[in-house]
Amino acid sequence: MSSDPKRPLFFGLRIALWYAVLFVAGSIAIVLLTYYLTAASLAQRDQQIIRGKLGDYAAAYQRGGARVLAATVRAEQQAAPERLFVRVVDRGVESIVLSNPEGWDPSKLEMASARLADGTLVQVGKSTEAREDLLARFRAALGLVTLLIVVVALTGGWMATQSALAPIRRLAFAVQRIIRTGRTDARVPLEGTGDALDELTSLFNAMLDKIEGLVTAMRGALDNVSHDLRTPLTRLRGTAEMALAAAPDPDRDREALADCVEEADRVLVMLNTLMDISEAESGAMQLRREPVALREIVQRAFDLYHDVADAKGVTLAISAGDDVAVTADRTRLEQVAANLIDNAVKYTPAGGRVDVDVERAGGHAILRVRDTGQGIPPDELSRIFDRLFRGDRSRAERGLGLGLSLVKAIVEAHGGTVQVASESGRGSTFTVRLPLLS
Ligand code: ADP
Repeated sequence: MSSDPKRPLFFGLRIALWYAVLFVAGSIAIVLLTYYLTAASLAQRDQQIIRGKLGDYAAAYQRGGARVLAATVRAEQQAAPERLFVRVVDRGVESIVLSNPEGWDPSKLEMASARLADGTLVQVGKSTEAREDLLARFRAALGLVTLLIVVVALTGGWMATQSALAPIRRLAFAVQRIIRTGRTDARVPLEGTGDALDELTSLFNAMLDKIEGLVTAMRGALDNVSHDLRTPLTRLRGTAEMALAAAPDPDRDREALADCVEEADRVLVMLNTLMDISEAESGAMQLRREPVALREIVQRAFDLYHDVADAKGVTLAISAGDDVAVTADRTRLEQVAANLIDNAVKYTPAGGRVDVDVERAGGHAILRVRDTGQGIPPDELSRIFDRLFRGDRSRAERGLGLGLSLVKAIVEAHGGTVQVASESGRGSTFTVRLPLLS
């Protein structure tokens, strides 16, 4: 994690440089292309002029020999401003240069030649100086333009990236402030532009909401655990202390020790269940998955709770087909069914009913536990799956407030969901959905 506030600056510089390099490279490519196209078309134009003249001169030479050609050249050179060089080579032996013999330097001339029928070679040359001069000025102008492009690209790129990065920098500063102060209740203000950065900011804020929620929930769970551990531990200590303070009596001491074991068991069960829930939620729980028929699971739970329900005057009934199977850890699924049926029997008064159904629907295996008991008040519905939560009206019953948390954690570890529907005083229905055995 970096806390260097200059980072975005370097990042901006890097983007600006990339932008400038691309822009300048593109511009230079265009400039070079323009230059070469211009140079090529100038050279082509010169060639056309020379070839035109060559035709004229060759015709003049054929008409009247060197004399007529010389007269034509002279007449033309007086009229035309463009200086052309003309040379006639007679059958390779004698060279008669008709104009500007001092300027006849083939390296500085654009030339064209034609051989006549009698073997005479007529050559016309045109100085490239004027063209070179024009191109040199063109090059200088293009150089200046390129320099301007570099300056514009650098400043433009810098300004553009700076304004684009400003919101990111604001976001980074806000995040750093939150990290520094540790205040998870602070939020980064939205720009209100509705763009990608605003989306990022609101996502970041949503993440902070979630973290804050988790931290609060963890703090709450820790408070609850400490509170719930205090009662059995205080009782355990009190029992031991009283036994120690009283006169030795083996029978009473044994009773006190048995009470201590019971309280210690209660603490252990609570801690083990809490650890199971954490393991299932984090995905660390070892699940021994195998094909399991849900009917067997509910049958076992029925066998376990049948007597308890009977004793309480609650009718417990199951209805399950043979064809509903899932891939699951059998023991964990038995815990799920047992917890749901235990709650249903526990929170249903005498004369009530508990129905356990197993069916397949919508590609899922469904385990449904319905009771006609006290129901769950609407304000408690969203919290019954929280660790250590116990309903206000349920405190008279035995329980740790961990049963439903464990059910939810195990079901979700199996890729399923658990839902509840309930109305105060009119019973509750818990529905577990698990992926069918494929
Ligand atoms: P507990 O040990 O209190 O039963 P659970 O996690 O199993 O803990 O359940 C949490 C709370 O949800 C209970 O205290 C109770 O208020 C409520 N609850 C769960 N099942 C039922 C039910 N079948 N009928 C009414 N209330 C229920």
